[in-house]
Amino acid sequence: MQSGYVGRFAPSPTGALHAGSLVAALASHLDARAHGGRWLLRIEDVDGPRTVPGADRDIIETLARLGMQPDGPVLWQSERTARYEQAFEFLRERGWVYPCACTRREIADSQTQGPNRVRSGEAIYPGTCRDGLAAGRPPRAWRVRVGDRRIEWTDRNGRHHDDHLASSVGDFVLRRADGVWAYQLAVVVDDAEHEVTDIVRGDDLTESTARQILLQERLGARRPRYLHLPVLLAEDGRKLSKQNGARPIAGDPPIQVLNAGLQHLGLGHVTAHTPREFWPRAIERWRNSHWMRTPERSAGH
Ligand code: GLU
Repeated sequence: MQSGYVGRFAPSPTGALHAGSLVAALASHLDARAHGGRWLLRIEDVDGPRTVPGADRDIIETLARLGMQPDGPVLWQSERTARYEQAFEFLRERGWVYPCACTRREIADSQTQGPNRVRSGEAIYPGTCRDGLAAGRPPRAWRVRVGDRRIEWTDRNGRHHDDHLASSVGDFVLRRADGVWAYQLAVVVDDAEHEVTDIVRGDDLTESTARQILLQERLGARRPRYLHLPVLLAEDGRKLSKQNGARPIAGDPPIQVLNAGLQHLGLGHVTAHTPREFWPRAIERWRNSHWMRTPERSAGH
């Protein structure tokens, strides 16, 4: 079946695949296969200090054992920094980015008054360096001007969003003080270059979407469709992660792992003995589920 659909799974190699990250892998793979599309695998190792050596190989092997093979070579963000530089220069030449000298502390301190100062632990940038650096202050990071733009978008899960970036995050960082490219920029450059049409990922990333759409618009990239899924929560109610006890699933029986993911997506479990048996049945289930319904407004515009 030929289709223009391109999907991807984009794990950060900060540890082995666990039940939480598996859900994003499973759902993105199911959605790509149900649409007769391509499925890419991108290792988001742009943040060197957080990368765990060997975790990338581990993730690739675990996915293969579960029957998830990417269509095309695996991509490593650490090999693509020249592309991020290019996109950054494009934005800089147009006056959309500026250097910022503020420390995290200064930004936090500037926000001791007023409601809704922070979202998800991140301080809203007050625009201190927007009109130039104070004399003698060295630039630390680079930020993009969000202006007064409202970003409207509809998730394939039916939720409509209307985000005024100036009041929700402020001008955000594209290149950090330590020189590392920000996730927001890298993800947009990569998804555009690989012509990704559908992004299926955990809903902890819902609030990053408006920032990514802004960058797509500035870089002249097409807007993909988005489907955000409920993330698996740990017992403490936080997103399941290595920090709160998520175990690697590499050694678990594949069908058990796959069915647990399917169950989390509300699709029950299928009878199968091997991944080869599992996939066609699971794809059929996904195809007939509410996850495949696309609300009218979700099409890119
Ligand atoms: N690398 C991100 C993560 O592991 C996911 C990025 C994305 O899917 O856009 O949380």
